[in-house]
Amino acid sequence: MIELRTPAQIEEMRPAGRFVGEVLTALADKAAVGVNLLELDELAHQMIRDRGAESCYIDYHPSFGASPFGKVLCTSVNDAVLHGLPHDYTLADGDLLSVDFACSVDGWVADSALSVVVGTPRPEDVALIDTTTRALYAGIEAAQAGNKLGDIGHAIGSVARDAGLKINLQFGGHGVGRTMHGDPHVPNDGRPGRGFPLQPGLVIAIEPWFLHTTDEIYTDKDGWTLRSADGSRGAHMEHTIAITPDGPLVLTARA
Ligand code: MG
Repeated sequence: MIELRTPAQIEEMRPAGRFVGEVLTALADKAAVGVNLLELDELAHQMIRDRGAESCYIDYHPSFGASPFGKVLCTSVNDAVLHGLPHDYTLADGDLLSVDFACSVDGWVADSALSVVVGTPRPEDVALIDTTTRALYAGIEAAQAGNKLGDIGHAIGSVARDAGLKINLQFGGHGVGRTMHGDPHVPNDGRPGRGFPLQPGLVIAIEPWFLHTTDEIYTDKDGWTLRSADGSRGAHMEHTIAITPDGPLVLTARA
């Protein structure tokens, strides 16, 4: 069921969005050669405790998960692109790191992700992150009252196709509210003018993710981390946005 939020509820959702943005900023600042993924998870966990927020991940146990997630952060490195379970790994020069973070503040969830390169970047990784970022903002720009859900996917998918990337439709964006995953599903490709009519009060996470040379993924033996089938690297960018009469409002905007 798709739920619409009142303007007052969208105001109530702002602190969660702001906090998630602050955590991702702190993680992007900390991520560097020599930093362990478990240190990044602990930083986010400490910020959650200090804020009195609630992790959406730590007890997360969907049907496809082997066991409860147990961490507060997803850290996906290089050929990992989504759902990366933080493990004892120290970031090395040139690693492409995607961090996905969702939590609840005062009963409202926000969800956001970003990709960064630590140390010396490969040009193709910079380009992949740039394309994924442009796809995210094209999707946000299409999130206008009067448009259809398919317009968001079409905007995202067009950026990817123009860059020669393949699109996996297995995982995409989603409604956000009291819980992390609600309706509607927001695929990273679509047909313009088709699907659910976008209207003020719809709050969704838009989250393009792409791999350099494939759209196929497999699950790591840790039961969570999704890796590219051909070993090529991935990038992931996500914001939680609210559709308002004045256009899309990015709740998880970073300073
Ligand atoms: Mg997310």
